Amino acid sequence: MRVLVVEDDPLVADVVATGLHNAGFAVDQVRSAESAETALVTEHFDLIVLDLGLPGRDGLQFLASLRRGAGESARVPVLVLTARDGLDDRVEGLERGADDYLVKPFELRELVARVRVLIRRTGSSAAGGLGFLGLVLDEASRVLRAAGRSIELTPREWSILEYLMLHAETVVRKDKLLQAISGWDDSIAPNAVEVYVSRLRAKIEGSGVAVRTVRGVGYRLERAAFV
Ligand code: CA
Repeated sequence: MRVLVVEDDPLVADVVATGLHNAGFAVDQVRSAESAETALVTEHFDLIVLDLGLPGRDGLQFLASLRRGAGESARVPVLVLTARDGLDDRVEGLERGADDYLVKPFELRELVARVRVLIRRTGSSAAGGLGFLGLVLDEASRVLRAAGRSIELTPREWSILEYLMLHAETVVRKDKLLQAISGWDDSIAPNAVEVYVSRLRAKIEGSGVAVRTVRGVGYRLERAAFV
């Protein structure tokens, strides 16, 4: 899962980015609405953390134009950060299409929890964690449950399986998976997705779920042909 943090205050941005990174998200930071728009043209994000007080165009204007736009980025969930006295901003933010807001100063734990909830709400509504057939990603204990077994996943294996579950039974392009596991600062080998998918396959073998390769395109999470 990949998060874009739009925040001009480098201190706040770093705290947020580090917290989300430690929670297993791939994070990118920009300092202005203009840079955020540029990033959204070429990159896929699963959520935006948006500070309202930005230099240049402010967060509310950015949010309004984001929601008016076409394509997948118009529907990206947005968590708004507002100043303590910004009640009007909060109301207006929600009216303009924010999905949730946090008032500064906030607890990092709360931010991470809200980000997880928002991503899950927009993906799957499975109770107790994101799941597909016999597999459940248990957010609380950060393990994969499969037929009574608990399987440890690395953060990147987790991110790949999570993305595949959110788009289960559809073909997921390989570059989307690469984006789901990488921030701009990370250097990731081009074959990283293949490597993580093959480790993931070994771990979920016998679970009734398979990651099928769709040649030249990507992968599809589906019911295994033979169990
Ligand atoms: Ca600010």
